[in-house]
Amino acid sequence: MTDDETLGFATRAIHAGQEPDPGTGAVVPPIYQVSTYQQDGVGGLRGGWEYSRSGNPTRAALEAALAAVEGGAAGFAFASGLAAEDAVLRAALRPGDHMVIGNDVYGGTYRLVARVLGPWGVEHTPVDLTAADRLLDAIRPGRTKVVWVETPSNPLLSIADITAIAGHARAAGALLVVDNTFASPALQNPLALGADVVVHSTTKYVGGHSDLVGGAAVVADGAQLPAGLEGPTGTTSVRDAIRFLQNASGAIAGPFDAWLALRGLKTLDVRMQRHCANAQRVAEFLAAHPAVTHVSYPGLATHPGHELAARQMRGFGGMISFRTGDAQVAGAVCGATRIFTLAESLGGVESLVEHPARMTHGSVAGTALEVPDDLVRLSVGLEDVDDLVADLDQALAVATR
Ligand SMILES: *Cc1c(COP(=O)(O)O)cnc(C)c1O
Repeated sequence: MTDDETLGFATRAIHAGQEPDPGTGAVVPPIYQVSTYQQDGVGGLRGGWEYSRSGNPTRAALEAALAAVEGGAAGFAFASGLAAEDAVLRAALRPGDHMVIGNDVYGGTYRLVARVLGPWGVEHTPVDLTAADRLLDAIRPGRTKVVWVETPSNPLLSIADITAIAGHARAAGALLVVDNTFASPALQNPLALGADVVVHSTTKYVGGHSDLVGGAAVVADGAQLPAGLEGPTGTTSVRDAIRFLQNASGAIAGPFDAWLALRGLKTLDVRMQRHCANAQRVAEFLAAHPAVTHVSYPGLATHPGHELAARQMRGFGGMISFRTGDAQVAGAVCGATRIFTLAESLGGVESLVEHPARMTHGSVAGTALEVPDDLVRLSVGLEDVDDLVADLDQALAVATR
């Protein structure tokens, strides 16, 4: 009953896949820290459990919960967001194929596409997908098999129209994958807007406490591989192909990490409400600050994607980036905060600050995805917002002294 789609988001996040343990009544799924399972005679599997790369009850609980909160047919939990991305891309692409990728996606995604898949014969075209029609010029008929979108994007917080892009991708016979890490399933559900697969770095908002690295892929009901491709199990189902790869290449989430992600997911809804409220206040403060030349936050009416985000999302999220007009000042702000911790990553309860050009996006320097060097990225956490605003105020004063 708990994956019933008529139930609200928070109810699904707390209960889907997480029935009390039938043996003990434990209300939280136990951490099945085990590699193998006793068989009742050769091939006599209890409940289907055989070996923990193929399946583990704690991971299965997380996978069911993620499928339920994204409105998908199946979820797959991986060792990291990039491991999930790698499995999805290798399920859908073969040497000689082409993919289109948003031109300000996560730097690690770009590195995977350009420097790992590239040498295996997959070509890519980075496109500014804030105007969905730009996709049409980049599609190579019969060769473009994947369209990869990140919205809101990292670190520029640009917004892409998932519904419009899904229409173009479908017409081209390509699979649409949306990286939903920044919005989290609490604020945006790309499958309902026409995407075929959603990926997450559960390291970020789903986990929510900066204490795990994990990833996930959730597949839409009935999603089919790109036109003309048969998967490794002889079907054209995306779900079958990813399940096969998860086991065959083995980058699974371990039981404890799966359990932490599941624990994080239970509070995702309330956390996102506070992330959104705090970020809105911080963005308004920055927009009015004389040392700040530009603020990117979809919740500001001045953001070019504001209206689209208001339609497509249920809140504007906790990520902000802003420019100071000077790389030196940007670096100095990052070094002067006291509550915002200088660190990569995002989505945890604690606020973080970073300098993308020299930190998270160092791997895209010199490419089409290079980010401005005067950009500062904030992951606005759950502290008292007055303290966060005061901290940025003093850091900007120090940096511009
Ligand atoms: C962090 C991140 C990833 C990669 O996830 P890992 O868990 O670090 O492998 C992918 N996409 C986005 C948007 C991210 O922020």
